[in-house]
Amino acid sequence: MAPVKNFLYLARTLRRVPRMALVSPALNLFFLRYIGNFRIKNSAGHWTVHSHLPPLNHPAFGRFVGLHLLERIAGPSHAQIGLTNACPQACAYCYNRERRGQAMDTETILRAVRELKELGVCWLGLTGGEPLLNPDIARIVASAADGCAVKLFTTGSTLTPERARELKQAGLFSVSVSLDHWLPEIHDRNRGLTGAFATALSAIRLFKVTGGVQVGVSAVVSRDMIQRGQVEEFLEFLQGLGIDEAWLCEPKPSVAAFWDESQVISPAEHRQLSDLQDRRNRRAGMTVNYLGHFESRENFGCNAGHKMVYIDACGEVSPCVFTPMTFGNIRDRSLKEIFTAMKSHFPSGDTCFINRNFPLIRDAGRGQGFLDPAASLRVMDKAEFGELSGFFRLYLRDRKERRA
Ligand code: SF4
Repeated sequence: MAPVKNFLYLARTLRRVPRMALVSPALNLFFLRYIGNFRIKNSAGHWTVHSHLPPLNHPAFGRFVGLHLLERIAGPSHAQIGLTNACPQACAYCYNRERRGQAMDTETILRAVRELKELGVCWLGLTGGEPLLNPDIARIVASAADGCAVKLFTTGSTLTPERARELKQAGLFSVSVSLDHWLPEIHDRNRGLTGAFATALSAIRLFKVTGGVQVGVSAVVSRDMIQRGQVEEFLEFLQGLGIDEAWLCEPKPSVAAFWDESQVISPAEHRQLSDLQDRRNRRAGMTVNYLGHFESRENFGCNAGHKMVYIDACGEVSPCVFTPMTFGNIRDRSLKEIFTAMKSHFPSGDTCFINRNFPLIRDAGRGQGFLDPAASLRVMDKAEFGELSGFFRLYLRDRKERRA
């Protein structure tokens, strides 16, 4: 049952965004049910369900309701952008491993942010590489924060108190610091850098002391941890850090080292993590936010290339961060043109695109880990998507076209 406080927050949200009442009853009921899996909290001033949705008291939430739930525009609601390919760490599962090229300069990144907002993006993740290594990061956050809930994914490397303050003042909504294990030696080994664990803990402390930003951890939990039932123990450790949210995902077959069926999470393990999330969220304290729950067939499914888009640090446009494919570069064509063409190949589906289709990417790449536009299109001739998710069954009910 949904916590009573949720209804109080939703009533206050309805007063701020009265257009919510105009959203179709079926979609509103869907959201009520979905939000019931979480406790809405006031995290540093943000009324937060979890960090993958704009806070209810942020202008981005009103834009999300207006553009995506009422007008139902064709553009993406969610995006990520790479601010640099540089990173002091070297994770085996890093989705950025095979991406190369000339990095965008700040003016190009600012143009990309402008174009994303014009297309309807309401939630923007900043990633990399290590995004803190981009010296203009605060300027980039400020350029996005008037219309988007901006979330930073970071290792914490190079963070200073001044930089944390600048990011808060620029309007950052949420930060997820990477932390994969409670044992320093295992985290450091996974990250290929001695001291990575200490850096992460120090960044969490700095952001907490600074205030004004929802502070979380993003953790890539290995299949081994899931199978040994250690995720719960890990969550206990994270709870002890006093963070607002634990954001969990498993390694994806985004890079050659993981192109192997035996490495992809099984439906039973997926269910195990979703159940764990729901169990933990019945308790007070930190929110647990498992990406696979958000992207499950009961909820929002896979939005790659449909309501989600990724622009990497070199300007290449991909369906999501985990898909090693490009459909064009924003230096050559407008984002709108590239996204519209890409979306025609990406109907929303109820299973993870990359988990399902990585063998096609492996074969089309002919030894290359990152597909150019021609190879990406070859993959799309054979790609499979499955049924619509619970949300999109309702959302597209009155539309003729699934490939909008
Ligand atoms: S491909 Fe997988 S990781 Fe990417 S948006 Fe879809 S469900 Fe999420």
